[in-house]
Amino acid sequence: MNFLENPPPIFLIQVLVAAIVASDNIEDSVLPNLDKPTSRSKRRRFSPIKIANQIPKSRRREIEKALEDVSGSPKKWSRSSGPTNHSFLRKRIKPGSIRNLQYDLLDVEIGESWPVPVTVLHGSRPGPVVTLLGAVHGDELVGPLALTYLCGQNFMGPEKILDPSTLAGTLRIIPIVNLPGYRRRVRYFPDGRDLNRAFPGKPDSNTTSRVADRLWKLIINNSDYVVDFHTAAKGRTNLPQIRANLAHPGSNKIGRAFGIETILDTEGPRGSLRRVANANDIACITYEGGGSDEADPESVQVSIFGIINLLRSLRMIPGYPSKPRFRILASGSVWIRSDQGGLLDVLAPAGSFVEKGEIVATVTDPEIPGEDHDILSPERGLLISTATHPFVNSGSPIGHLLPVKRGVSTLKASLDDDDCLIISGLDGDPPWRDDDDVEDIAVFGEWSGGSPDAEWGDVEDDS
Ligand SMILES: [Zn+2]
Repeated sequence: MNFLENPPPIFLIQVLVAAIVASDNIEDSVLPNLDKPTSRSKRRRFSPIKIANQIPKSRRREIEKALEDVSGSPKKWSRSSGPTNHSFLRKRIKPGSIRNLQYDLLDVEIGESWPVPVTVLHGSRPGPVVTLLGAVHGDELVGPLALTYLCGQNFMGPEKILDPSTLAGTLRIIPIVNLPGYRRRVRYFPDGRDLNRAFPGKPDSNTTSRVADRLWKLIINNSDYVVDFHTAAKGRTNLPQIRANLAHPGSNKIGRAFGIETILDTEGPRGSLRRVANANDIACITYEGGGSDEADPESVQVSIFGIINLLRSLRMIPGYPSKPRFRILASGSVWIRSDQGGLLDVLAPAGSFVEKGEIVATVTDPEIPGEDHDILSPERGLLISTATHPFVNSGSPIGHLLPVKRGVSTLKASLDDDDCLIISGLDGDPPWRDDDDVEDIAVFGEWSGGSPDAEWGDVEDDS
């Protein structure tokens, strides 16, 4: 048949295209091997676009080199080997069970040992050990909320997404690590130190260092993957983002597996859990979302979505992980600072895409009423953090910007009406809320005309 003379009916082409798309989907779902080489068109359809211009060439080569050396999964995770008990905190946890345990931050015979709750799901099949930590900083509440919901009945138990009878591997959840800080609503430990600068810690040093030492030896050191949940420090809020050393293969893997758009390629500060874990070849990433002292349901929802994605990517739970529409892999950023002192009005919140020269905030001074100063964005890019506290001095940071030079139209396609990034995982209702929590609004009265369909004329009354 000559298509030029006898074009096929348009619906036939549509059916054909639909069939191709469907067959691709089926093939992809039957063969979820992510390492399998994909054709060009397929890669375009299923892999997120990288907006990787932030990462310099030399660093990109370093990352690629590090990823080349990775061998496959360890033998101990092989599905053919039988289930074994999981030893944890001197307990033996049977395959296919959930245990709620207490873990003492300090090893003492008298006085305060600071017991914190740990939930352990030990799957009926072999697999990796994943540890999830919240509130290493006591006033950062997004992690504690997400991890608590995850241990709730909507997610955990028979037939639920976290079902130990179908789980492969082990999941340990500590919603609040810094319990003494959390109870006092502060970031630090009672000795005034920052736990996330104290790793790997020492057993005979200061209090925080002892806590770090025990946490390191008893919980981190025997994990395969660790996710540490944080928020911005006081006075700031963060766009949900992953921080990972992309040249560490396991961290690169779970950083991407989390399934959100923004990944910052950093080593982490000295003494931070992530940096020390990576130095000991334990995969560890940090999730950052929202600010301290706030619940921020959106950041909570994105983190739950990310954990499910991560567990699916590691094939610990059934289902296929979702991928973001694009990814920004960033290795550089710019702080936007105020040159004036006074009170701040942030016009572009965290997550905003701003143009060079755009006004992102204004500063006024109530002591000199009527005068205000604009703060402009020095570059075009994505604001990943903004100030929430209004007091500023000259030099105060008011925003943290990722300059974006390529992929701008791709990024713009994912902005809402206020030019804010729509993050993967934010569509749909918060998954930890029950249906009965949604309030039904009752409207009383009578249908005018006797039936809601009456105004359409010929329709018979459906009674
Ligand atoms: Zn933190």
